Amino acid sequence: MNANHHPTLYLLKDYASGNISDQLAVLISAHLESCDHCQSNVKRFEQEMAEKLASQQTNNNIPDFGHMLETILDKKQEYPDIINTKQIDKTLTYNDKRFELPTSLTHLKKYMSPWKNKLNSFHYSKINLNGPGNMYLIYFEKGAKIPQHTHNGNEFVYVIAGSFEDGVNEYYTGTFASFDHTHSHAPQTNDPDGCLLVTIIEAPFHFQKGWSRLFNLLGRWLY
Ligand SMILES: [Zn+2]
Repeated sequence: MNANHHPTLYLLKDYASGNISDQLAVLISAHLESCDHCQSNVKRFEQEMAEKLASQQTNNNIPDFGHMLETILDKKQEYPDIINTKQIDKTLTYNDKRFELPTSLTHLKKYMSPWKNKLNSFHYSKINLNGPGNMYLIYFEKGAKIPQHTHNGNEFVYVIAGSFEDGVNEYYTGTFASFDHTHSHAPQTNDPDGCLLVTIIEAPFHFQKGWSRLFNLLGRWLY
Protein backbone atom coordinates (compact mmCIF):
# COMPACT_ATOMS: atom_id res chain seq x y z
CA MET A 1 0.00 0.00 0.00
CA ASN A 2 1.31 3.44 -0.80
CA ALA A 3 -1.25 5.85 0.62
CA ASN A 4 -0.13 9.43 0.18
CA HIS A 5 -3.04 11.14 1.95
CA HIS A 6 -4.24 10.54 5.48
CA PRO A 7 -7.04 11.59 7.87
CA THR A 8 -6.25 14.77 9.79
CA LEU A 9 -5.12 14.45 13.40
CA TYR A 10 -8.47 16.00 14.42
CA LEU A 11 -10.32 13.18 12.65
CA LEU A 12 -8.04 10.52 14.17
CA LYS A 13 -8.64 12.00 17.61
CA ASP A 14 -12.41 11.89 17.08
CA TYR A 15 -12.03 8.30 15.86
CA ALA A 16 -10.00 7.33 18.92
CA SER A 17 -12.59 8.88 21.24
CA GLY A 18 -15.50 7.21 19.41
CA ASN A 19 -16.93 10.66 18.72
CA ILE A 20 -17.49 9.97 15.03
CA SER A 21 -20.23 8.79 12.65
CA ASP A 22 -20.51 5.16 11.51
CA GLN A 23 -19.74 6.28 7.96
CA LEU A 24 -16.47 8.00 8.84
CA ALA A 25 -15.44 5.29 11.32
CA VAL A 26 -15.64 2.72 8.52
CA LEU A 27 -13.54 4.80 6.10
CA ILE A 28 -10.89 5.56 8.73
CA SER A 29 -10.78 1.91 9.89
CA ALA A 30 -10.13 0.84 6.29
CA HIS A 31 -7.25 3.32 6.01
CA LEU A 32 -5.77 2.26 9.37
CA GLU A 33 -5.49 -1.34 8.14
CA SER A 34 -2.72 -0.29 5.77
CA CYS A 35 -1.26 2.80 7.49
CA ASP A 36 1.09 2.21 10.42
CA HIS A 37 1.62 5.95 10.77
CA CYS A 38 -2.06 6.74 11.45
CA GLN A 39 -2.42 3.58 13.56
CA SER A 40 0.31 4.80 15.90
CA ASN A 41 -1.37 8.22 16.17
CA VAL A 42 -4.69 6.56 17.12
CA LYS A 43 -2.91 4.41 19.73
CA ARG A 44 -1.27 7.54 21.15
CA PHE A 45 -4.64 9.35 21.39
CA GLU A 46 -6.22 6.31 23.06
CA GLN A 47 -3.35 6.17 25.53
CA GLU A 48 -3.67 9.90 26.28
CA MET A 49 -7.40 9.54 26.87
CA ALA A 50 -6.86 6.53 29.12
CA GLU A 51 -4.30 8.48 31.16
CA LYS A 52 -6.57 11.50 31.39
CA LEU A 53 -9.47 9.37 32.55
CA ALA A 54 -7.23 7.55 35.02
CA SER A 55 -6.08 10.86 36.53
CA GLN A 56 -9.70 11.99 36.79
CA GLN A 57 -10.39 8.75 38.63
CA THR A 58 -7.64 9.53 41.13
CA ASN A 59 -8.92 13.08 41.60
CA ASN A 60 -12.61 12.26 41.86
CA ASN A 61 -12.37 8.77 43.30
CA ILE A 62 -14.99 7.42 40.91
CA PRO A 63 -15.88 3.81 41.76
CA ASP A 64 -15.74 1.00 39.13
CA PHE A 65 -13.61 3.09 36.84
CA GLY A 66 -11.40 0.19 35.79
CA HIS A 67 -14.41 -1.48 34.21
CA MET A 68 -15.22 1.68 32.26
CA LEU A 69 -11.67 1.85 30.91
CA GLU A 70 -11.77 -1.76 29.82
CA THR A 71 -14.97 -1.09 27.92
CA ILE A 72 -13.49 1.95 26.19
CA LEU A 73 -10.29 0.18 25.23
CA ASP A 74 -11.91 -3.06 24.08
CA LYS A 75 -12.95 -2.04 20.58
CA LYS A 76 -13.74 -5.66 19.73
CA GLN A 77 -16.94 -5.27 21.71
CA GLU A 78 -18.01 -2.35 19.54
CA TYR A 79 -17.37 -3.81 16.10
CA PRO A 80 -17.83 -7.57 16.40
CA ASP A 81 -18.64 -8.08 12.71
CA ILE A 82 -15.55 -6.13 11.65
CA ILE A 83 -13.11 -7.96 13.89
CA ASN A 84 -14.45 -11.52 13.57
CA THR A 85 -13.80 -11.85 9.88
CA LYS A 86 -12.67 -15.43 9.39
CA GLN A 87 -15.93 -16.41 7.70
CA ILE A 88 -16.49 -13.14 5.88
CA ASP A 89 -16.00 -13.07 2.13
CA LYS A 90 -13.79 -10.07 1.35
CA THR A 91 -14.36 -10.29 -2.38
CA LEU A 92 -16.54 -7.80 -4.18
CA THR A 93 -17.53 -8.62 -7.75
CA TYR A 94 -19.11 -6.28 -10.25
CA ASN A 95 -19.54 -7.19 -13.92
CA ASP A 96 -16.24 -8.87 -14.83
CA LYS A 97 -14.32 -7.08 -12.05
CA ARG A 98 -13.15 -8.66 -8.80
CA PHE A 99 -11.94 -6.60 -5.87
CA GLU A 100 -10.52 -7.53 -2.48
CA LEU A 101 -12.04 -5.28 0.19
CA PRO A 102 -10.24 -4.14 3.34
CA THR A 103 -11.60 -6.11 6.31
CA SER A 104 -13.33 -3.00 7.69
CA LEU A 105 -15.35 -2.60 4.49
CA THR A 106 -16.53 -6.21 4.02
CA HIS A 107 -19.64 -5.70 6.14
CA LEU A 108 -20.71 -2.81 3.88
CA LYS A 109 -21.80 -5.34 1.26
CA LYS A 110 -25.01 -5.99 3.16
CA TYR A 111 -25.87 -2.25 3.10
CA MET A 112 -25.32 -1.84 -0.66
CA SER A 113 -28.15 -1.00 -3.03
CA PRO A 114 -28.01 -2.31 -6.63
CA TRP A 115 -25.28 -0.85 -8.82
CA LYS A 116 -26.27 1.94 -11.19
CA ASN A 117 -24.43 3.05 -14.27
CA LYS A 118 -24.25 6.62 -15.55
CA LEU A 119 -22.52 7.83 -18.70
CA ASN A 120 -21.17 4.29 -19.26
CA SER A 121 -17.90 4.79 -17.45
CA PHE A 122 -19.20 5.74 -14.03
CA HIS A 123 -20.85 3.14 -11.74
CA TYR A 124 -22.13 3.53 -8.22
CA SER A 125 -23.98 1.79 -5.43
CA LYS A 126 -25.47 3.66 -2.50
CA ILE A 127 -24.55 2.34 0.94
CA ASN A 128 -27.23 2.75 3.57
CA LEU A 129 -25.22 3.50 6.68
CA ASN A 130 -25.79 6.17 9.35
CA GLY A 131 -23.83 9.37 9.06
CA PRO A 132 -23.81 13.00 8.02
CA GLY A 133 -23.83 12.40 4.26
CA ASN A 134 -24.65 10.02 1.47
CA MET A 135 -22.26 7.12 1.14
CA TYR A 136 -21.37 5.35 -2.12
CA LEU A 137 -19.14 2.76 -3.63
CA ILE A 138 -18.02 4.26 -6.92
CA TYR A 139 -16.22 2.54 -9.75
CA PHE A 140 -14.60 4.67 -12.46
CA GLU A 141 -13.59 2.90 -15.62
CA LYS A 142 -10.28 3.91 -17.18
CA GLY A 143 -10.70 7.33 -18.79
CA ALA A 144 -13.75 8.29 -16.70
CA LYS A 145 -13.66 11.94 -15.69
CA ILE A 146 -15.85 14.19 -13.54
CA PRO A 147 -15.72 17.86 -14.61
CA GLN A 148 -14.27 20.62 -12.47
CA HIS A 149 -16.30 21.17 -9.31
CA THR A 150 -16.18 22.48 -5.78
CA HIS A 151 -17.92 21.08 -2.69
CA ASN A 152 -20.81 22.62 -0.81
CA GLY A 153 -20.05 20.31 2.13
CA ASN A 154 -17.31 17.86 3.08
CA GLU A 155 -16.40 14.93 0.86
CA PHE A 156 -14.39 11.99 2.21
CA VAL A 157 -12.83 9.32 0.01
CA TYR A 158 -11.08 6.02 0.65
CA VAL A 159 -9.44 4.41 -2.41
CA ILE A 160 -10.08 0.65 -2.36
CA ALA A 161 -8.39 -0.30 -5.64
CA GLY A 162 -6.61 1.46 -8.48
CA SER A 163 -5.94 5.18 -8.41
CA PHE A 164 -7.29 8.52 -9.60
CA GLU A 165 -5.92 12.00 -10.04
CA ASP A 166 -7.68 15.34 -9.93
CA GLY A 167 -5.36 17.83 -11.58
CA VAL A 168 -3.85 18.63 -8.16
CA ASN A 169 -2.80 15.30 -6.65
CA GLU A 170 -2.80 11.57 -7.34
CA TYR A 171 -4.65 9.26 -4.97
CA TYR A 172 -3.52 5.64 -4.67
CA THR A 173 -4.95 2.47 -3.14
CA GLY A 174 -5.22 2.91 0.65
CA THR A 175 -5.49 6.69 0.50
CA PHE A 176 -7.92 8.61 2.69
CA ALA A 177 -8.66 12.04 1.26
CA SER A 178 -11.02 14.84 2.28
CA PHE A 179 -12.25 17.78 0.25
CA ASP A 180 -14.29 20.85 1.12
CA HIS A 181 -15.28 24.22 -0.34
CA THR A 182 -11.62 25.21 -0.61
CA HIS A 183 -10.97 22.41 -3.13
CA SER A 184 -11.75 22.71 -6.80
CA HIS A 185 -10.86 19.67 -8.87
CA ALA A 186 -11.71 17.35 -11.75
CA PRO A 187 -11.19 13.70 -10.71
CA GLN A 188 -10.32 11.19 -13.40
CA THR A 189 -8.60 7.85 -13.68
CA ASN A 190 -6.09 6.66 -16.23
CA ASP A 191 -5.42 3.49 -14.28
CA PRO A 192 -5.79 0.47 -16.62
CA ASP A 193 -8.01 -1.23 -14.01
CA GLY A 194 -9.97 1.92 -13.24
CA CYS A 195 -10.57 2.99 -9.65
CA LEU A 196 -12.89 1.66 -6.95
CA LEU A 197 -13.48 4.00 -4.04
CA VAL A 198 -15.89 4.55 -1.19
CA THR A 199 -17.02 8.09 -0.51
CA ILE A 200 -19.15 10.16 1.85
CA ILE A 201 -20.71 13.26 0.31
CA GLU A 202 -22.29 15.71 2.72
CA ALA A 203 -23.83 18.08 0.15
CA PRO A 204 -24.22 18.27 -3.64
CA PHE A 205 -21.16 19.18 -5.70
CA HIS A 206 -21.13 22.46 -7.57
CA PHE A 207 -19.88 22.06 -11.12
CA GLN A 208 -18.04 25.03 -12.51
CA LYS A 209 -17.50 24.49 -16.19
CA GLY A 210 -17.98 22.24 -19.17
CA TRP A 211 -21.06 20.07 -18.98
CA SER A 212 -22.13 21.88 -15.87
CA ARG A 213 -25.88 21.44 -16.30
CA LEU A 214 -25.59 17.72 -16.91
CA PHE A 215 -23.14 17.25 -14.09
CA ASN A 216 -25.04 19.37 -11.62
CA LEU A 217 -27.66 16.69 -12.24
CA LEU A 218 -24.98 14.09 -11.52
CA GLY A 219 -24.35 15.88 -8.25
CA ARG A 220 -28.01 15.42 -7.45
CA TRP A 221 -27.90 11.70 -8.28
CA LEU A 222 -25.13 11.35 -5.76
CA TYR A 223 -26.78 13.47 -3.20
ZN1 LIG B 1 -2.52 7.25 7.31
